[in-house]
Amino acid sequence: MRRLFYKGILAEKIIITGQDAHHLMHVMRAKAGQQVTVVDDEGSVALMEMTAFTAESVELALKERLEGNTESPLELTLVQCLLKSDKMDWIVQKAVELGANKIQPIASRNCVAQYDGKKAKQRQERWQKIADEAAKQCGRTKLLQVEPIMGIKEFLAKSGFGEDNPLYFCYENEEQKTIKEALQASKAKNASVLIGPEGGFTLDEAKAIEEAGGQSVTLGPRILRAETAAIASLSVIQYELGDLG
Ligand code: SAH
Repeated sequence: MRRLFYKGILAEKIIITGQDAHHLMHVMRAKAGQQVTVVDDEGSVALMEMTAFTAESVELALKERLEGNTESPLELTLVQCLLKSDKMDWIVQKAVELGANKIQPIASRNCVAQYDGKKAKQRQERWQKIADEAAKQCGRTKLLQVEPIMGIKEFLAKSGFGEDNPLYFCYENEEQKTIKEALQASKAKNASVLIGPEGGFTLDEAKAIEEAGGQSVTLGPRILRAETAAIASLSVIQYELGDLG
């Protein structure tokens, strides 16, 4: 069944406008009497029936409240250095399915993809759209937020990483500390994980990340492609500290 995210709080009657109304009326050709699942800003879920249409809006009536929370107890952020476009699209979709709450795209030294002001904004909007679609498809009760692209220096300067706010820095040159050890030592309710671009991190970047409180960890003896590393790390974090498994 079609799932909608409603910007507001569920009530006996609500009015849907904008893209969602357009989609219901003109793409799905919905008729009065048909039902949709609606998730509100607080993550409450209900089955609602379409009762009336105008040129730009659809009225929905509440039929039944549903037990719906599908969110992980862990607040999870993927900090992903920019990859070629189709790979970023794919990672955004998978991160939503794996229950991440936020994606912070990062421009680092070895990123091949580079976006200036207007392009960067367009990318962010594109990824947010992909994320919103994925959230509907996989039954999330919260939308993942795609942050504006940030340079790595700026990102490290503004984030206070430490024990209460851990950053797992997946580093291809780390040989000792495993992500498993790091996760098993964590008592935090949140986690951020940093994945490099296709070309990896420079030595200077690695040093700066650790100085900013990032814990350098390995995902094992093989070099994974960046997109594999992103999915693998989100999976093991959600397995150890969240709701996967
Ligand atoms: N070109 C680099 C590899 C980059 S892999 C090289 O040949 O060394 C892209 C990113 O995936 C890395 O920056 C890192 O964040 C992550 N990654 C891949 N394999 C990893 C591993 N075994 N341990 C930790 N991180 C890994």
